[in-house]
Amino acid sequence: MSSTDTTTPSETKLTSAEVVQITKDTNYGTWRYQKGWNPLHIVDAEGCYITDGNGKKYLDFSSQLMCMNLGHKNPAVIASIAKQAEELAYAMPGYATTTRAELSKLLLEVLPKGLNKFFFTTSGTDANEAAFKIARMYTGKTKIIARYRSYHGSTSGSIAATGDPRRWAMEPRGKGPGIIFAPEVNCYKCPIKHTYPTCGIACVDYLEHMIRNESDVAAVIVEPIVGTNGILVPPSEYMPRLRKICDEYGVLMIADEVMAGWGRCGTWFAMDLWGVTPDILTTAKGITSAYVPLGLCATTEKIGDFFQDHYFSHGHTYEAHPMTLAPAVATIKEMQRLGLVERAKELEPFVEEKLQALKAKHRSIGDVRGKGLFWAVDLVKNRETKEPFNTYVDKVSGKPLVVDQIAGKLAADGVMIQAWVSHIVIAPPLIVTKEELEKGIDALDRHLSIADELCV
Ligand code: PMP
Repeated sequence: MSSTDTTTPSETKLTSAEVVQITKDTNYGTWRYQKGWNPLHIVDAEGCYITDGNGKKYLDFSSQLMCMNLGHKNPAVIASIAKQAEELAYAMPGYATTTRAELSKLLLEVLPKGLNKFFFTTSGTDANEAAFKIARMYTGKTKIIARYRSYHGSTSGSIAATGDPRRWAMEPRGKGPGIIFAPEVNCYKCPIKHTYPTCGIACVDYLEHMIRNESDVAAVIVEPIVGTNGILVPPSEYMPRLRKICDEYGVLMIADEVMAGWGRCGTWFAMDLWGVTPDILTTAKGITSAYVPLGLCATTEKIGDFFQDHYFSHGHTYEAHPMTLAPAVATIKEMQRLGLVERAKELEPFVEEKLQALKAKHRSIGDVRGKGLFWAVDLVKNRETKEPFNTYVDKVSGKPLVVDQIAGKLAADGVMIQAWVSHIVIAPPLIVTKEELEKGIDALDRHLSIADELCV
């Protein structure tokens, strides 16, 4: 550097290789062994496309963890962030702000009817932590019934309620007080070996059996359509039945719509698929299309009223942060203007048909299932036994996974896809076109031979 050069070393443009190296050296790669972490350098994104440090463009078939429902570079959302920063970057949560009132009014329009008291957080995890505390304060009870094959977040309460093996790292010392697990709903691989519909949805009967045989149950938490653990869609009777059971025993129903909400399933919220209103709904991700971190814990008025005369013992410095609320207002308005919820619903049969055709062609596909623009391609070694190529135990022990090999090939082919243990998720931004859907699914078609060849 010459003596007249005014750039400091930290202002010098880093090469892609340097960006990756510094990130690896100084950051944790999450939910993985640190060894072998080689993050892709992302430099730009627009609509359904992402560009890496080498100028390679990818079709984003995962919406980046099922977040970017509006796609990248939405001008209205970007403008809302700039405007809010200029007007009022922050005010303590005890104050009312115009943005807060505007968002609350919009939420009343789009949330399942009856949810009208809001607590704004900064992630899905802390929305669920709030839900647990609210449920416990309101009912005066402790236990939360969660289900296996669920994910509810990464901090102590929410990881304790997570029914997949990511919880194991925290046990026994992180075992949540009073969290108990019910079997998941999974009609493709029923954990209690029943077959729908002759089972009469025995899994929900089992949940009732648990409530009857336990004392001190405050709430049941469910992902209405299980996200990470396999896009598990319950039979249509499940949620209405669970609603009845919760009412009968005075147990609160918490719907975790962090991933399934915001049009992903072809309705504003997954619970709308069955016309069921939970007592508490939690969400995040699509609420701002992830332009800014925001979470929400919404409750019924009845729960809200309880706290008129009871101390609401909860809060965060960054709760209802104006910078997080403004892009949510813009996101909801954009979703309404572009008709994205309807669009996800309209595209559902097209995706289903394409994926069923893929299943007919590839013997490694055991099942395809989903709603709206939220689908799983479930891979098996053998269709008869339904044995997966890998299990969660393989994942947490760092074993290479077949789905990761497929995702790697797809990335080389210009399609970014979310692969998880033994299934591949199809969840592009809701602005995706039929041509883009076709392009991504055709790319998957080209690389499924990796799994087909391993079938037994
Ligand atoms: N619940 C569900 C259903 C989720 O999918 C997630 C995140 N994938 C969370 C909770 C946690 O949200 P966050 O990562 O924003 O804390």
